[in-house]
Amino acid sequence: MLLQNEREEIVRFGRKMVSARLTSGTGGNLSVIDRDAGLVAISPSGMEYDETEPADVPVLDLDGVAVTGERKPSSEFGFHLALYHARPDIGAVVHTHSVYATTMACLGWEIPAVHYLVAFSGHKVPLAPYATFGSRELADSVAGSIGEHNALLLANHGLVAVGPNLATAFAVAEEIELVAQIYYQAKCIGEPVMVPQDEMERVIGKFAVYGQRGTTGSGAGGVNKFDAAGQNREEVH
Ligand SMILES: [Zn+2]
Repeated sequence: MLLQNEREEIVRFGRKMVSARLTSGTGGNLSVIDRDAGLVAISPSGMEYDETEPADVPVLDLDGVAVTGERKPSSEFGFHLALYHARPDIGAVVHTHSVYATTMACLGWEIPAVHYLVAFSGHKVPLAPYATFGSRELADSVAGSIGEHNALLLANHGLVAVGPNLATAFAVAEEIELVAQIYYQAKCIGEPVMVPQDEMERVIGKFAVYGQRGTTGSGAGGVNKFDAAGQNREEVH
């Protein structure tokens, strides 16, 4: 089966998205790219994650043309493909409507460095302007807003996380949801104290070393990018 490993991963991490409470029902979607083949495996549209099997996972080329699979791809395939075009360092995209991150997105807020774990994204999690789900405008908004970050809030919609592989993109989504929850709770009872910029630089640097799990960060001073293998990163200033 074409892209068998990738399609199995889509099934496995789709189920994890539900069990980790990052999404409910058929919400959210995820994809992984085989850069050598120029093909993307992406979750099918409107299917329950626990009923999806690898053969149900559509495979598209980078122009969005279906290569195999009988199911329709996720309605958000446009921004997944736009991200693969915009970020040659990434190998996977996870999109969720996780509750706390989406709450921030509905307030029109970014997530600042309220906790050092925001380094999973970079110095912050930026916000993409609102556009209708599944639209070309949303794809442009997402690709134009993520910069070198590994997470992005979509106004009035949800969260996008990227990584060199699906496990890392999933971890970014999980950690950013945690930071969003902490930010929400801190805001409920006071005004959170931010991690200073220079300390965030240090944390992002440590993440680069500690990057066996493929975490990354980015920021104004030095930007860490995934290398093709997604293990070590180069530092780009
Ligand atoms: Zn969505």
